[in-house]
Amino acid sequence: MTTDTTLNRSYTLEREQIPPTVVEQIEDDERAELTAKIKAQLKQQNAVMVAHYYTEPELQILADETGGYVSDSLDMARFGNESAAETLIVCGVKFMGETAKILNPEKRILMPDLEANCSLDLGCPADEFSDFCDAHPDHVVVVYANTSAAVKARADWMVTSGSAVDVIKHLTAEGKKIIWAPDKYLGDYVQKETGANMLIWQGACIVHEEFKGKELEALREHHPDAKVLVHPESPSSVIEQADIVGSTTGIINAVANIDAKEFIIATDTGIFHKIKESAPDKVLIEAPTAGKSATCISCAHCPWMAMNSLRKLTHVLETGNNEVFVDNEIIQKAKGSIQRLLDFTKEQSNKLAGDA
Ligand code: SF4
Repeated sequence: MTTDTTLNRSYTLEREQIPPTVVEQIEDDERAELTAKIKAQLKQQNAVMVAHYYTEPELQILADETGGYVSDSLDMARFGNESAAETLIVCGVKFMGETAKILNPEKRILMPDLEANCSLDLGCPADEFSDFCDAHPDHVVVVYANTSAAVKARADWMVTSGSAVDVIKHLTAEGKKIIWAPDKYLGDYVQKETGANMLIWQGACIVHEEFKGKELEALREHHPDAKVLVHPESPSSVIEQADIVGSTTGIINAVANIDAKEFIIATDTGIFHKIKESAPDKVLIEAPTAGKSATCISCAHCPWMAMNSLRKLTHVLETGNNEVFVDNEIIQKAKGSIQRLLDFTKEQSNKLAGDA
């Protein structure tokens, strides 16, 4: 199988499109005051926090303490779907708020900052993507979760980093040709793993793209026993050195389950909070994002995830601002691509249970 490389245009963001990573600095007194306000408002409004692993630890702690949830994007949406809360406060980025709305249209979805976006979402404009799909009508359209509601609505399938290889293998076994968007590194990785015939959109995550293969090699020499865990949105020179290539949840589980002391981790450092909770005795080392030719933009922490903060969360709960709305027609179409994945993963786990 070959990969068609006719898509030569890059959708990597310009430097000025990327905000600086600014983590809210807050004194203990104010933190205690805001936390108390947030807890009271959540109760009063029958609201629940759903936070991503990459958000600040204090938000993750608060979500856990108040009956909310901390996880990856799809699991956040699943939790929201099962929760009896009338309002979901999504601490994450725009596509996560939209996915929550698509799966829970009857619920009110609020976000601390509606400007919190994602370079993959920004690098895949719905109109251009739709034109591209129209030009290749014999391809099945598979998009990553990190896309806008409109792009999901144009797709046949939505996948996550944890499910991408299985879905593409399944489609390849059916003889399908595939359009993949938007992450080029994840697309390349999936293509290598499956041998699929894929047209790959050229977007990238500005956090994972910064991990450096050469510098990782040097770091491994200093830590020969460390296991290397890599998120598949990273460049191939980094993925090639991985002991485990995994999603955020996959990486957290790997640290807890692998019998090793040291781990070099190539993903957003926000994840370290949950890893330390589940594996407090392990030594965690950040994979290098810079070297002699350093261009580090995010230094392994997403600038958009960092926009979620206690002050903004309090403001949103007190004012009802920042509600997420998605056009009803888009909801109906996007739901189809998400539901396909949910049905597929359910079928896979039923098969596994049957095999056990
Ligand atoms: S870490 Fe990367 S993929 Fe995740 S939200 Fe930020 S820019 Fe998007």
